[in-house]
Amino acid sequence: MKQVTTKPVVAVGRYTSPDRMVSLVKNGVLDMIGAARPSIADPFLPKKIEEGRIEDLRECIGCNICVGWDHMLSPMRCTQNPTKGEEWRKGWHPERIPGKASDDRVLVIGAGPAGLEAARAAGQRGYNVTLAEAAEELGGRVARESLLPGLSAWSRVRDYRVHQIRQMVNVEVYPASRLTAGQALEFGADHIAVATGAHWRNDGFGRAHQFPIPGVDKAGVFTPDNVMSGVAPEGPVLVYDDDHYYMGGVIAEKLRGDGLEVTLVTPDPVVSSWTTLTLEQHRIQARLIELGVGIEVNARLAAFGEGVATLECVFTGRPREVAARSIVMVTSRLPDDELYRELAGDPERLSDAGIASLHRIGDCHGPATIAAAVYEGHRFARELGTEPEDIPFRRELTELAAEFALP
Ligand code: SF4
Repeated sequence: MKQVTTKPVVAVGRYTSPDRMVSLVKNGVLDMIGAARPSIADPFLPKKIEEGRIEDLRECIGCNICVGWDHMLSPMRCTQNPTKGEEWRKGWHPERIPGKASDDRVLVIGAGPAGLEAARAAGQRGYNVTLAEAAEELGGRVARESLLPGLSAWSRVRDYRVHQIRQMVNVEVYPASRLTAGQALEFGADHIAVATGAHWRNDGFGRAHQFPIPGVDKAGVFTPDNVMSGVAPEGPVLVYDDDHYYMGGVIAEKLRGDGLEVTLVTPDPVVSSWTTLTLEQHRIQARLIELGVGIEVNARLAAFGEGVATLECVFTGRPREVAARSIVMVTSRLPDDELYRELAGDPERLSDAGIASLHRIGDCHGPATIAAAVYEGHRFARELGTEPEDIPFRRELTELAAEFALP
């Protein structure tokens, strides 16, 4: 464009690195940097760059949840910025947060996306916070998923929050510290948030099967959790995707990259169908085809054993067989909520221990998107010491918008 016009040129491209922005302008490629998604993830991006606060940038991870919610005609959400879409309805400022309401102590159990955000935001409010994580590494699901093909940017969800927490003298972090209910009660906290995550089911329960699939030999059945923890299924592998977001396609790509013969089976007409909303579906299916992943659409898993998986057409029920020594079930997840249930199951013990409130947040509450987990962690911290209102979504026009509205 610079070669055919003397006008200033601006472009977008998820520019989040200030070094890259400066080099594009200095080298004459662009005159201005456009930042759409980076400004959703961090509306104060230019200001932070101006002030040299590069390490405070909340970098967009490119997940397109913002686009997806827009396509669903729902209030926009952002994985990195939980205040997105709540600036007007709830008055949530992306950088500022009201100070603490008391000197209460907060214990957050689990340092995945929800727990990290809860600890960060409660710490920003000035509460004394302890964050305990069972694993040696912080980050929960984003730490594990960011090692899968194409998901390295997921680690930014952890990195931004860990960096912020490290600046706070009032937030203590204990990795490799799995707490029992008794230890949590003895901790001396006034408020407990349990953010212990979720795990993938291995019984096939998902959208097409509202019950565990009978006739599946569990010996060769794996889950994304197994694959992420380094377990290598024997090929040929069938990836059964009844979840329809990114995980099925990503697991198929990883296993194919490991040199296995892979077939992705889905009851939907295309692979990773939900990613149509995030504008990724076409690219995902094209990539799997290029990599040589076999694709079986409109098919339910009916049975598995002795090197063969039986599929049935979702329209006719007609069966067909596919060679498979292993299956990776990408169907649905269950909350890891045993600790929460044990604590919540004995209100008297909670009250004797002086616990004023107990919450479960993130995937431990309801397995969902990373954006939903970050949102719930943030909401927990925002509402600490307040009487949260059930605020309806506001649809009325502001005075200014009304002035320009069409009749
Ligand atoms: S939702 Fe994802 S892609 Fe959209 S701005 Fe936030 S981090 Fe970036």
